[in-house]
Amino acid sequence: MTRETIHVTGELYSYLLRVSLREHEVLRRLRDANAGHPLATLQISPEQGQFLAFLLRMLDARKVIEVGVFMGYGTLWMALNVPEDGKVIACDINEEWTGIARRYWKEAGVEERIDLRLAPARQTLDALVAGGESGSFDLVFIDADKTAYLYYYERSLELLRPGGVIAVDNVLWSGRVLDVKDTDPDTIAIRQFNERLSNDERVDLIMLPIADGVTLARKR
Ligand code: CA
Repeated sequence: MTRETIHVTGELYSYLLRVSLREHEVLRRLRDANAGHPLATLQISPEQGQFLAFLLRMLDARKVIEVGVFMGYGTLWMALNVPEDGKVIACDINEEWTGIARRYWKEAGVEERIDLRLAPARQTLDALVAGGESGSFDLVFIDADKTAYLYYYERSLELLRPGGVIAVDNVLWSGRVLDVKDTDPDTIAIRQFNERLSNDERVDLIMLPIADGVTLARKR
């Protein structure tokens, strides 16, 4: 027995994908198309998408929020895994990237399930709360500007039903959370975010070393 999580080499990672990944053909094309993009690391990894899809199925999720869309890869994983009358509210401010995203959502035939809100996510989340939608969402995926993580988290917790889940990306931040000399605002924000959640009695908590680290917080 070992106390360490297994180190996933490139070869082992390929194996993992080969024996377990079930990626829709449009998802695969979207991922291939973005592979050469300079900001490709902004996109979640395929097994991470499948993990979110699995969570949605477990939760019987119908109402989902995504904070940070990029090219819509994660959005598409989620839209493919809510029922036909389900809804993914997708928050982003980038018209160009979400314009590309929309094409793929349409190709996959799930664009009706995605409600893209082109505005700062703070505004969109505030508007949902003000519009009386508190307590009605099944899952929120947060993967956007790190300095606003705590704000997104608080609003998301308000919007979730009891038993609903917030999934948060990049919580290990390539290991930079450990480097006390790293005073980058994003690093500080992620460190503070992790510390805050560690004592948050309103949720059940787990941090998983998937991709760049994913925290799951289940609303009690
Ligand atoms: Ca991310």
